[in-house]
Amino acid sequence: LLLERAHYLLSAHNTRQLPDDVGAEVAFAGRSNAGKSSALNALTRQNSLARVSKTPGRTQQLVFFEVTPEAKLVDLPGYGYAKVPLDLQAHWQAFIDQYFRTREALRGLVVVMDIRHPLKDYDRQMLAYAVRRGLPAHALLTKADKLGRGQQGIALQKVRKELQSAFGDTVSVQTFSGPARQGVDEARGIIGGWLGL
Ligand code: GDP
Repeated sequence: LLLERAHYLLSAHNTRQLPDDVGAEVAFAGRSNAGKSSALNALTRQNSLARVSKTPGRTQQLVFFEVTPEAKLVDLPGYGYAKVPLDLQAHWQAFIDQYFRTREALRGLVVVMDIRHPLKDYDRQMLAYAVRRGLPAHALLTKADKLGRGQQGIALQKVRKELQSAFGDTVSVQTFSGPARQGVDEARGIIGGWLGL
């Protein structure tokens, strides 16, 4: 696998700024503080890859990381920052909506959710975007290390059932923890497969 090669490519604030729509890319979504940056770092075995996504001013942009010229990771803006003005929220909504509807390179969506607070409105909306397009999605239940094994299993089964009834078979789910190195290989396998790596 080549995910280790991921490096920052560019940030796009609007459709015009997107990189060429070629090759394959996988998008990452998650509510703020769900653990998306930590997951991106663990998946690429880098310490600070996703830090760039948190730079002030970049929190409302699509941040692209290039693995190879034909394979990219896309960090979607974290949702839940309290102080985003309403007009910016509207711009962001329209941008994401168009990205999901039209981006041909998009091969799949990873939704990062805190295992203790899964499937909030935003998570469901992102999953709906992917499923509507016929794209597969994979949910990472992060911070799994904060629960015991038994509780992890219960949470996983519950989310799996809810995903199945809301979205059908194209959405999969696993437990995950970057810091505890749990589920990293499983997730890398799925993402690498989508990217054709
Ligand atoms: P983001 O806002 O979604 O990018 O979230 P971050 O990756 O910055 O994580 C938010 C906080 O949760 C940070 O303090 C992380 O150290 C912590 N965190 C993220 N993932 C995990 C995890 O799997 N286990 C534990 N215990 N803490 C985590």
